[in-house]
Amino acid sequence: MVLDSLGKSLRGVLQKIARSSSIDEQLLNEVVRDIQRALLQAAVNVQLTLELTRKVRTRATQEKTPAGASVRDFLIRIIYEEIRGILGKDRPFDTRPRKILLAGLFGQGKTTAAGKLARFYQKKGVRAALVAADVHRPAAIDQLEQLSKRVGCDFYADRGERRAEVIVAEALRRFPAHSTIIVDTAGRSGIDHELIAELKRVREVFQPDETLLVLDAAMGQTAGRSAQAFHEAVGLTGVILTKIDGSAKGGGALSAVAVSGAPILFLGTGEHVDELERFEPTRFVSRLLGMGDIQTLLERIDELSDKEGAQNAAEHLMSGRL
Ligand code: GDP
Repeated sequence: MVLDSLGKSLRGVLQKIARSSSIDEQLLNEVVRDIQRALLQAAVNVQLTLELTRKVRTRATQEKTPAGASVRDFLIRIIYEEIRGILGKDRPFDTRPRKILLAGLFGQGKTTAAGKLARFYQKKGVRAALVAADVHRPAAIDQLEQLSKRVGCDFYADRGERRAEVIVAEALRRFPAHSTIIVDTAGRSGIDHELIAELKRVREVFQPDETLLVLDAAMGQTAGRSAQAFHEAVGLTGVILTKIDGSAKGGGALSAVAVSGAPILFLGTGEHVDELERFEPTRFVSRLLGMGDIQTLLERIDELSDKEGAQNAAEHLMSGRL
């Protein structure tokens, strides 16, 4: 499970609430403290953490528990909603053939992510093609070629060509429109003028459906600044957050990137080409909190709150299924 220790701490908080005899000031204080500790340990920004727990406290003390739900369930729901709120909106991801442009700095996992995306599409029955437009690093081209063999997808490179946009133009001629074409661009040690200019030239020729930034979760909160800089420079449609498996700072990276305006679409969860997961905030938080299909559950509570005798039914529902 991604972000194991954060999930464990937060599930502990929910269990504390579920087991409590009543929800009073003291319990609420404990809950707020526990959530703060859990988030800060996962490297979530202090400001964001304090803001989140302030909202939990305010809502818990001021909002009226809907008829049909217990105070306990309502508090759990508030926590769920506020944590969900810092991870951005769910964005559907089209699995029809797409033109995907990948950007990112050195070592973030960009080439690996290209292979993983190709695999993702091939598994969905869409032929994928990997295009090596990293003209500065021959090793990256070889790495991508190997990945294409492992995935069993198409591949194009032109080792003698120094202009990335020329390579991309040729790839567009070669691969049919019903392929997903994934272009791996050059990384750099920092976001600079040359990198952005090259990305813009490639984009002009390629006309991508998706411009995705690949970011290493180990950057923690810094990932947010990087996402924002790229977003402002080239206009991202999404982010792939890699190495979430090995990072204790995953929570910080997730929450910081979420506020950059570019939605996180995928998580890289290992070195292998199959280790890529779709990131959907709602599902992710449900899993993190161990709440199963929370959405259905919440809708049921909403429905119940209109009905007479709903209290018992809601309690039954929550105690039985949570
Ligand atoms: P690039 O320079 O951005 O193209 O980065 P690479 O794709 O070459 O990846 C750099 C290193 O990170 C390699 O050793 C990869 O195996 C590793 N890597 C990439 N993605 C992940 C991931 O999701 N999890 C883990 N644990 N390692 C990854």
